[in-house]
Amino acid sequence: MAVDLSYSDQVTGLVAKTEAFIRDHVLPIEDAHGGDIAAAGGDTIRTDLQKAAKDAGVFAPHAPIEYGGHGLGMSDRAPVFEAAGYSLFGPTALNIAAPDEGNVHMLAHIASDEQKQQFLAPLAAGDVRSAFAMTEPAPGAGADPNALNTLAVKASGGWKINGRKHFITGADGAGFFIIMARTSGEPGRRGGATMFLAPADTPGLTVGRHIGTLDKSMLGGHCVVDFEDLFVPDSAVLGEVDQGFSYAQVRLGPARMTHVMRWLGAARRGHDVAVGYVAEREGFGSKLGDLGMIQKMVADNEIDIAATRALLTQACWELDQVHTPQTPRPSRRRSPPKRSSGSSIGRCRCAVVSVCPKTFRSHASRERFARSVSTTDRPRCTAGYRQAHRRCRS
Ligand SMILES: Cc1cc2nc3c(=O)[nH]c(=O)nc-3n(C[C@H](O)[C@H](O)[C@H](O)COP(=O)(O)OP(=O)(O)OC[C@H]3O[C@@H](n4cnc5c(N)ncnc54)[C@H](O)[C@@H]3O)c2cc1C
Repeated sequence: MAVDLSYSDQVTGLVAKTEAFIRDHVLPIEDAHGGDIAAAGGDTIRTDLQKAAKDAGVFAPHAPIEYGGHGLGMSDRAPVFEAAGYSLFGPTALNIAAPDEGNVHMLAHIASDEQKQQFLAPLAAGDVRSAFAMTEPAPGAGADPNALNTLAVKASGGWKINGRKHFITGADGAGFFIIMARTSGEPGRRGGATMFLAPADTPGLTVGRHIGTLDKSMLGGHCVVDFEDLFVPDSAVLGEVDQGFSYAQVRLGPARMTHVMRWLGAARRGHDVAVGYVAEREGFGSKLGDLGMIQKMVADNEIDIAATRALLTQACWELDQVHTPQTPRPSRRRSPPKRSSGSSIGRCRCAVVSVCPKTFRSHASRERFARSVSTTDRPRCTAGYRQAHRRCRS
């Protein structure tokens, strides 16, 4: 069977428009503020950039067409997200930054019509930001979701939620939260989890301190969030009660791959800066780019980027084939690109900084971002190693 990896004219055109938009509108702002989105204006710059993205016809490539997006599947998202990720502010400009992008994806698949009107429509349009609250301080849920401690107990007409989350990206300033809480079973055992939708101003929901991380290009921090007798009505249940763990896969599976797409763009920018430098810089009687060691670092970067892109292409193709909560998902295909992208970006970063010290100074934001993403969500990729371990023993 022939394998056709070419993109449609629609996708090719959108990639070209995105590249031009990022180059002309977004990179100058990122560079002027050292990749610090708070210094660039926080939510004000987000709104400005998103308006410009709408005018340029590149806004919300992932969102359903009826909610103002381009309705792209996973395979078609890959080159567009990579083009956006070329600037650290690019994903925010296109409304495809984490966690909003993954939340749009999940709401589009699981939410009721009323929930779509209340939560998906404003999120897809960029009118509000959102947060996804799953991870808890020890002994609660982290790499192992079975440890889920936050409890939702049935009350008259709804549910009462109590618990603490941390590392909740975008929580400060989010318009609403998707909360993962235990609705059956004991912490440490699988049991059942349920997802709830709660507007940020619901009494009992408190956004606490920002946990210190290295990145400065994401809005709303990575915060501690407390729920104290937080009451949500029955209509706030996202999907079905006790189905939260499988819904999490609807969100996290694709979201791991969209991380990879954006990170590929960031790796490519760092690499391009370094290549530009070694092509000009003279030392020891030649251009740096004429030296064998430098050429090897440049070639290794390009191989890493190409290999990660190939693994990503395969994983996205598979995600496009199976995407219902009931259908088995080949999750083992998603760990390799995530691991590869983390390693590639790490190696690219070292090579880029080695060949181009200027990169470290003027692109410190990219360095911080790369170090930060090497921890984000990465622990869950240990699942890939666990699966490999099981295969080795069977
Ligand atoms: C910048 C940032 C943003 C984040 N944003 C969000 C967010 O918006 N919403 C949210 O819910 N969460 C968020 N997280 C949380 C993130 O997803 C968790 O950190 C992750 O799931 C791991 O949980 P943990 O930190 O409790 O690690 P732990 O579960 O304590 O694991 C610690 C270490 O042990 C390793 N480990 C655990 N189990 C195994 C095993 N079986 N085999 C081998 N190794 C293992 C892990 O790989 C990890 O290195 C964010 C984290 C960061 C750093």
